[in-house]
Amino acid sequence: MFDPVEKLKEYIRHPSVSTDSNFKAGMRGAQEFVAGLLASLGFAIEVVPTAKHPIVLARRGGDPKWPQVIIYGHYDVQPADPLNLWKSAPFEPTEREGRLWGRGAADNKGPLMVHIAAVARLLERDPQLPLRITFMIEGEEEMGSPSFPAFLEKYAPELRKADFVFLSDTGSVSEQQITITCGLRGLMLCDVEVTSSRSDLHSGLHGGAIRNPIQAVAELCASLHTPDGRVNIPGFYDDVLDVSDWERAELAKLGQSEEQYREFLGVPAFHVAPGFTPFEATRFQPTLEFNGIGGGYQGEGTKTVIPSKAFVKMSCRLVPNQTPEKIRELVYGAIRARMPKDVTYRIVDQHDGCPYVVVPPGRSNTPADQSPVLAKAFRAVDTAVTEVFGRAPLYLREGGSVPIIGEIKRVLGLDSVLLGLFLPEDNLHAPNESFNLNVMRKGIAASEKILAALARG
Ligand SMILES: [Zn+2]
Repeated sequence: MFDPVEKLKEYIRHPSVSTDSNFKAGMRGAQEFVAGLLASLGFAIEVVPTAKHPIVLARRGGDPKWPQVIIYGHYDVQPADPLNLWKSAPFEPTEREGRLWGRGAADNKGPLMVHIAAVARLLERDPQLPLRITFMIEGEEEMGSPSFPAFLEKYAPELRKADFVFLSDTGSVSEQQITITCGLRGLMLCDVEVTSSRSDLHSGLHGGAIRNPIQAVAELCASLHTPDGRVNIPGFYDDVLDVSDWERAELAKLGQSEEQYREFLGVPAFHVAPGFTPFEATRFQPTLEFNGIGGGYQGEGTKTVIPSKAFVKMSCRLVPNQTPEKIRELVYGAIRARMPKDVTYRIVDQHDGCPYVVVPPGRSNTPADQSPVLAKAFRAVDTAVTEVFGRAPLYLREGGSVPIIGEIKRVLGLDSVLLGLFLPEDNLHAPNESFNLNVMRKGIAASEKILAALARG
């Protein structure tokens, strides 16, 4: 009998911190654990090497007429530091208060275990289950999935034959209100470094003769928004999809209070582009943000200097159907056009990611060519979540980014069904991470129902 909680404990005991080379053994341990677990369920295992940490592909084939689902997860976790803030050791999983505590319990070992356990139960009951399943489990998610796009390209001929991707690496509002994430924002990041003089200069001897690079950076930044909060770059909004009424209505069901949100943020007032509530703006609108700015003297007291260099780090969050390539071009174009000619500058590309949106069946903007298996999966999710958790799920776009979801859509043409299983109180990426065992039990029951419904054909 498959005991998911015990299996999850075993899994968490492998300290799989992907970004820290001191955890090589833990990474290997977690990868071998998850591969071994799926092998024991009858899956054919392929460990795909990458530059850093291999990807586990576990396949259950069958009749090509059976539906095929890819289940995504990642076996790596965030570093556990600062260790002194943990109430129990991060890699020694402990049960208390109806939760399992440990690094990776909620991100993503617990939610992945939910789907493995569901599959185990289904196969135990029906070894001939007419469903093709491929687990695709990477070890570099917490470092930005650097090897994942090349892996997708290489395996695309096989993987794109699947019907959709099923995963739980997003959150829900609460245990009572499960959320299906239907959209994610994309990303485009860059740094701008401005140089005026060869070295720092005396502001008395040379002040008045040259443009200060901090001024050049500040003027550039100030030019990039209009006073009402929109991005001031021609063409920036051209590809933004309209927001459907059902999406606004679904979001309104959350019943969040703007005043509480304002107090939570600790701001005197919101600064939202016209036509959107703050909750809508973070999900439906693209942004251009400054993430860091610097130059010149930062120490105590004064220094009469004209710095030689100044910089700004910026990032755009993108919404469907913007692309990082086009936004990069537009933003760089604006920087080039607006940069004063009496300084030199350099724009440094940083990473990017595509935005993503999927529309559940039966909405005003459901694509006419939506795959029947995907539509069926959404209906099965709706029914299973309602039965198991007692309330229909909410279908929401999120403001954050999970670049692999957009990448899967771009390379494989597949949509993803994102069943949110972690909760705000699970402390992802923070000390005292935990996974709610009640959510785990219900999640397994729901996943089992969903996969069984797909298999019923
Ligand atoms: Zn994750």
